[in-house]
Amino acid sequence: MTNEMKVLAKSRPEPGLWMETRPIPRIGPDDVLIRVHKTGICGTDVHIWNWDDWARRTVPVPLVTGHEFAGVVVEVGRNVTDVAVGQRCSGEGHLIGRHSRQSRSGRFHLDPETRGIGVNEPGAFAEYLRLPAFNVVPLPDDIDDEIGAILDPLGNAVHTALSFDLVGEDVLITGAGPIGIMAAAVARHVGARHVVITDINQDRLDLAARVADVVPVNVARQDLREVEGALGMKEGFDVGMEMSGSQAALDQMVENMVMGGRIALLGIPPGKSPVDWSRIVFKAITIKGVYGREIFETWYKMIAMLQNGLDVRGVITHRMKAEDFARGFEVMRSGASGKVVLDWT
Ligand code: ZN
Repeated sequence: MTNEMKVLAKSRPEPGLWMETRPIPRIGPDDVLIRVHKTGICGTDVHIWNWDDWARRTVPVPLVTGHEFAGVVVEVGRNVTDVAVGQRCSGEGHLIGRHSRQSRSGRFHLDPETRGIGVNEPGAFAEYLRLPAFNVVPLPDDIDDEIGAILDPLGNAVHTALSFDLVGEDVLITGAGPIGIMAAAVARHVGARHVVITDINQDRLDLAARVADVVPVNVARQDLREVEGALGMKEGFDVGMEMSGSQAALDQMVENMVMGGRIALLGIPPGKSPVDWSRIVFKAITIKGVYGREIFETWYKMIAMLQNGLDVRGVITHRMKAEDFARGFEVMRSGASGKVVLDWT
């Protein structure tokens, strides 16, 4: 192994990412070194490319970006006993602290000291990634690197979808980005009755209908109530998953929920937004904010579901060599893509 590697870095405080050479990371006693094979481009990475307000406040420069990956362990630290060289893996990109009450109680995903690879710490858009062995998630042989590279966003979808019991329920998902589409596939897989997904981007709705057995609704052109009527729904949706961050989508969701309905929120509004709380109170609606993935319960659940027939591969619409990253970001920024996977081999 030479001691240099290719990376995709935020090296200047301006829009863009740059492919550069860096030393291969040195691992500590509790870490592993992973040869990265495939990575997914996330909406977060697009924010970092665009260098918007959030990125400027959050991301140190220079930083190797990227957090969705699959690869193989090529070196282990001296304290590492449960992960071996040669193990194919993905991994949890949230590096947690061990001091908070939540972390010490085993609710690792709620640790307030969490730092993210590719956001606060060196990331996975690189030939090699250093990761604490604790964060490694081994991949079974029947889950390939391409699916391994999108387990992070699939985990967001699974965490959101499994927030409430979906068996026999009617589900509304607002926002047909990759995570919304994967959440729809999960809802079907676990036994929801009707799954309706809304957006105003027809390309995304078409993709949703190809990937999952869902009812796509373009709310710019179609009336949601009419769709409910056509499906034979009388009282509204039992469970909502808000994936768009749009105030209009949330308002429409609340209006179309059943009394006592349950809503999981993953979409992030751009700023403060007016909420009609009295509507939520009088409809007795439960709202849950969803952050990241449950470490490691979500990972167990999603790998088990993938092994048991959950199919989300169709959400990957573009595959390319890492060197072609600029084209990958271009399709992501156009809004007309699903997941874009970069190949680092
Ligand atoms: Zn992501």
